[in-house]
Amino acid sequence: MTDLTKLTLAAARDGLKAKSFTAVELTRAHLAAMEKARGLNAFVTETPELALDRAEQSDARLAKGEAGAMEGLPIGMKDLFCTEGVRTTACSRILENFVPPYESTVSANLKKAGAVVVGKTALDEFAMGSSNMTSAFGPVINPWKRKSDPSVQLVPGGSSGGSAAAVAARLVLAATGTDTGGSIRQPAAFCGLVGIKPTYGRCSRWGIVAFASSLDQAGPMTRTVRDAAIMLGSMVGHDPKDSTSAKVAVPDFEAALTGDIRGLKVGIPREYRPDGLSDEISRLWEDGIAMLKAAGATPVDISLPHTKYALPTYYIVAPAECSSNLARYDGVRYGLRVEGKTLDEMYAKTRAAGFGKEVRRRILIGTYVLSAGYYDAYYIKAQKVRRLIADDFAKAFETVDVILTPTAPSAAFGLGETDDNPVTMWLNDVFTIPTSLAGLPGLSLPTGLSADGLPLGLQLIGRPFDEETVLKVAEVMERSAGFQAVPAGV
Ligand code: GLN
Repeated sequence: MTDLTKLTLAAARDGLKAKSFTAVELTRAHLAAMEKARGLNAFVTETPELALDRAEQSDARLAKGEAGAMEGLPIGMKDLFCTEGVRTTACSRILENFVPPYESTVSANLKKAGAVVVGKTALDEFAMGSSNMTSAFGPVINPWKRKSDPSVQLVPGGSSGGSAAAVAARLVLAATGTDTGGSIRQPAAFCGLVGIKPTYGRCSRWGIVAFASSLDQAGPMTRTVRDAAIMLGSMVGHDPKDSTSAKVAVPDFEAALTGDIRGLKVGIPREYRPDGLSDEISRLWEDGIAMLKAAGATPVDISLPHTKYALPTYYIVAPAECSSNLARYDGVRYGLRVEGKTLDEMYAKTRAAGFGKEVRRRILIGTYVLSAGYYDAYYIKAQKVRRLIADDFAKAFETVDVILTPTAPSAAFGLGETDDNPVTMWLNDVFTIPTSLAGLPGLSLPTGLSADGLPLGLQLIGRPFDEETVLKVAEVMERSAGFQAVPAGV
């Protein structure tokens, strides 16, 4: 039999329908792969019994011809989605033993579509980070290795690094991610995957542990564009339980992959060419532009003048929202509690023991920028700049249909290779954050390898709720790029 872990989501779906194998066989193959790859630390919690149980139910539904869109397909669930009866940690000590009594809407939607969740994947603590190194449960290892020195352990990116490593290492067919400033797209780029952050409001945030509520969005991480389209369709939809969930129709994303992008205008923003952009990334971007031209699209030089303010704006808005969202972890309502002589001491001890360094840093920044004396100078100012950034995109989209940029300024870096300066890490998201601030859909797809044999990604940005064009263009690029590389040993 073919190695079932090597299939795409689409091929596995079709194989199940054609009865070439069963959902139980497919699930067992992935559980075996997970067991062998524990060294990657991609999963916080494995749920093999639950998965096999669900796979059996999928087989029964498949036999009756009642299969859902994700029927019997093994996936990983980022450990930020609350899963009823299954521990949900956000990779924080403060939620180490938290077992939610409810299910997030996105994970419920996926289960309703028949998906088989095999476990909860690791992330940066509360999704704050770009490397998975801020997780309370240790770093995740990228299955990709440098050609020049395969002994160096590389980060998978973050914050959805456990999901990215699991999909790249063929431990699951696909996985969920969340993206606040790049957490789906950057790890997808570091691990040679497709990842799409849909428009803000497309996926319900209900039951997702909150980081920065005006930015957080869920999305799929997959090995192909078609797989992303399939999975996205099973995640999205209006949810009355989330007041920011948009009342928009759910299109057939897979049907959007027509292969025809003739006449489309593709914006190439000049501000995404900062001084010091590596030759490798510039070349990747040029190659991407050439692919689009060859397919009949027209590149258009555009300007997004406020781009340079995006990173500082994000690092005011996101910590502000984080400090307010994380106030709920007080030792009373959820998870960890460290006793103290007074109520205040109990709060302080609980939060000092429960939160890691990066999370504490963000809470401090957030509390500062929201404080009475600084609110106008920082928070209100950031909100105004955020609007200007969104307006730049709106103006550009009057003339172009989609925008092409690099996803990240470099390939995956080594575990101990970053200095201690948090700003170095924050710079990773320089290309993904503007899209997040504007609430637009953004997709990363692998289009080439670095000189050292590591995957590199390009980002496509679309109009609000126009994931269809983004996916359509991505699929055409995927075909011309012909990215077939896989991590060694896979
Ligand atoms: N790396 C960014 C941060 O640390 C984005 C994280 C995310 O998208 N969740 O905030």
